[in-house]
Amino acid sequence: MKCVIGVLALQGGFTKHIEMLQRLGVATFEVRQPQDLERCDALVIPGGESTTIQKQITFTDFEEPLKEFMAAKPVFGTCAGLILMAQNCLDITVKRNGYGRQIESCRCSLDIKFPSRRKRKYPGIFIRAPRIQSVGEDVNVLGEMNGEPVLVQQGCFLGATFHPELTDDSGIHEYFCKIVLKNLTAKKQRHKDAKKEFA
Ligand code: GLN
Repeated sequence: MKCVIGVLALQGGFTKHIEMLQRLGVATFEVRQPQDLERCDALVIPGGESTTIQKQITFTDFEEPLKEFMAAKPVFGTCAGLILMAQNCLDITVKRNGYGRQIESCRCSLDIKFPSRRKRKYPGIFIRAPRIQSVGEDVNVLGEMNGEPVLVQQGCFLGATFHPELTDDSGIHEYFCKIVLKNLTAKKQRHKDAKKEFA
């Protein structure tokens, strides 16, 4: 099954996400206008400056369409993208720049574990990263650094405080694609069931 994953391109590091998705053979494009969302099965919200992205969202009338999108389709947010999701579809609280200033930015090895997979190492790149301070009970912690959550999932929403698009390891993007395909399959099935009911 094919899917289209848009990348919100209002500000920040959207290009690297596009490159990573293209490397995986996924159809992707830059989402610049609210109506672009209609073509997307899922959305990536990149890192950047969350306050600037938020201003752009308001300025370009993305607010409502994005809310509707987040209520219905998979979203993957990295860093600033995760901050924006925390205000909407992910039940977590975050502290912006929670590890300190730019000088505290680092590359460190993380432990990640996807459902029914073995725990493995992942190269985490943190750039003025947000710190996850609490997670709701429906939130699954998939990755930790020093015992703190850095990669979380709640249903079809995935959030990372770091930058998987800046590494050569495409594992997290691949995992998101699986979430997207699973979501599409479930949707198709619901359509079929609804048709049967009314036949
Ligand atoms: N510190 C930024 C913010 O608060 C996030 C940094 C990033 O996305 N790399 O929005």
